[in-house]
Amino acid sequence: MISNGTLLNKEIVTKLKNLDIEVITSVDGNNATMQANRPFYNIRQSFNGFDSQLTFAVEKKVAKVARVTVSPNQVNIVENVKHLLSIGYKSIMIALATNVPWQKETIDKIYHTLSDFYIETARAGSILPLQVTNQLLLAKHEIQHDKYEPPTSGFCGAGKEMLGVSPNGDLYPCHRFTHSGKEYLLGNVFNGIEHTKREPFLQVTTSTLHHEMCNSCLALQYCPGSCMAANLLDSGDTFYPESRHCLELRAHVYNVDRIYNELINDCPPFISFLTEAWRSKREKALMSLLSELSE
Ligand code: SF4
Repeated sequence: MISNGTLLNKEIVTKLKNLDIEVITSVDGNNATMQANRPFYNIRQSFNGFDSQLTFAVEKKVAKVARVTVSPNQVNIVENVKHLLSIGYKSIMIALATNVPWQKETIDKIYHTLSDFYIETARAGSILPLQVTNQLLLAKHEIQHDKYEPPTSGFCGAGKEMLGVSPNGDLYPCHRFTHSGKEYLLGNVFNGIEHTKREPFLQVTTSTLHHEMCNSCLALQYCPGSCMAANLLDSGDTFYPESRHCLELRAHVYNVDRIYNELINDCPPFISFLTEAWRSKREKALMSLLSELSE
């Protein structure tokens, strides 16, 4: 389940805990950032009260992942990450806001600052739980050992693994497509899905979302393609990448290289972290292969 966390009071958290449901919370960081990005419309809600709610939800292991949306005017990403760590989050998923004007320099600065903080924290003995950064670091480690398999199935699950339902019951490829016009209508909850309309989405792979320009891109090996709804808004073409996606992934990959090269030879916590992450990934892949073979 994904939530902005405003209704995660003790009673609801306890119910979710009993139902074994986990929540990804959309929370962007400290008070200043939340006031700028997601001001509380309920005047009875304060940031301190909201923070205590989240702390309780994290303690109960109902909220494990913080999904952080970074906007162009959010200058202090490190302070926001520190705030989420102080609440107790064990996983932080950072994503830049889509379909807003970004400058390359701003994106480069965000990822440079974050990677400096990552290196500093690793040198002090801890690994930052930055989900995407750590996935890219593991991919880099696999590449270094000639064991990497690039993503092939495509990032975007719209219409494949997801559907969006509009208030009147119309079905679209995902929640973001519900505002994209009837052209993307796939059916409705009363009459079902028109399979011919859904078929093109089922065929989407990484290569559908890549283009000639990708051949010279430093992020190519890591890039599973981009969000088709964001592509549509940015370029008018569901398959042509939103410019933010490319700027962000390239900056991220460039700085992942910096982190890796800086730490891989002489930082024991970092080396242990990657070794364990790699072992666990291979074990999961093996278990899934075994369960497929036994079916
Ligand atoms: S980041 Fe952009 S240019 Fe690079 S491989 Fe991905 S879609 Fe292509």
